[in-house]
This record gives sequence, structure tokens and C-alpha cells, in this order.
Amino acid sequence: MKSFLDEVKATPGGEHVLACIQCGTCTGSCPMAQYMEFPPRKIIAMIRAGLREEVLSSSSMWHCLSCYSCTARCPRGVKPTEIAHALESLANKHGFKVGGTKTPMFYRSFVDSINGRGRVFELGMMIKYYLLTNPLAGLKIWKVGLQLFTHKRIPLKGARIKETGDLSRILRKYKEIGGSD
Ligand code: SF4
Repeated sequence: MKSFLDEVKATPGGEHVLACIQCGTCTGSCPMAQYMEFPPRKIIAMIRAGLREEVLSSSSMWHCLSCYSCTARCPRGVKPTEIAHALESLANKHGFKVGGTKTPMFYRSFVDSINGRGRVFELGMMIKYYLLTNPLAGLKIWKVGLQLFTHKRIPLKGARIKETGDLSRILRKYKEIGGSD
């Protein structure tokens, strides 16, 4: 069985994890570091120490906003943003349940929404997201939903691309190269 470090290195985005010199520039640049259980520099140290369970069950990477400040400033070309997304992918692939953030449920609702149609269906996506997280919170924003609907900003029926077969082929290929659902 592959070590955790090798698994991260083999995941797209995780290739440069060994180049890190633990300077902490990424953590100092990250606007979300204060909300993370383990900030970027520490997560990289933990990957290298083989702390698979601790890393993959943490909510840290799910807080990443993809602002790329860390990646732009890293003196070693490590790309911490890509590492965060590599970790999200591994956590999802191995079925880790994450507390402290709703981001995985948002991604799940988004992916399910575009799956098979190629376009996001906002109404269906938001219904699914609130059902997965907090249905009561969804009910509280009914006025906003009604306004969006009356101004024709949210259609009741989702659009779809013409070539859904192409989309299926792309998704199949993605899974063949190790992508998670
Ligand atoms: Fe490592 Fe780059 Fe972060 Fe410095 S900025 S700790 S080299 S990932």
C-alpha cells in the first residue's frame, strides 16, 4: 500500500510537496488561515509526517478559497492551493466525513447539479445543499428566493448543453485517471 506522502504526490496538485522548506509564507499570506484547524505550512508538514487520518479528516483544506496568494508567494513553487484541492479529492475518495465546514456538501450539490446536464441548475442545487446541511436555514431565505424567481433570475427548469455525451466522456476519463465522484 502507498504511503500517504506518495499518495499525495501522485494526486494532481500534490507533486511538489517535498520542495517545502517550512518558511510559513503560505500561512502568512492565507486570508483563511485563522479559520483552519491546521494552516497551510502545518498541513504540509503533517503530510510529510504521514499523518493521514488527521489531515484527511480535518476541515482545513475545505476552507481554501483558491485565491492563490500562497501559490504566488511560495519561494519553492510548492503550490499549496493545489495541495489543498488534492487533499479534498483524497478525503472525498476515501469517504472521510468532515465536520466544521459545509463546503463538501456545497461541492456535492454543485457536481450533482451539472452531472448529466453540463449546466448548473441553481434551484435544484440550492434545494439539495440546504437538505444536506440545514433545511431550516433554507426556509429562512424564502423571500430572497421568491424575489429571484419573480425577477426571472432563477428558472424552474434547468438548461442543458447540447453535447451531454462529451461531458460524460470527460467525466469517465477523469474517473479513469483516479478522480473521485
Ligand atoms: Fe512551504 Fe512554500 Fe508554504 Fe514556505 S510558502 S511553508 S516553502 S509551501
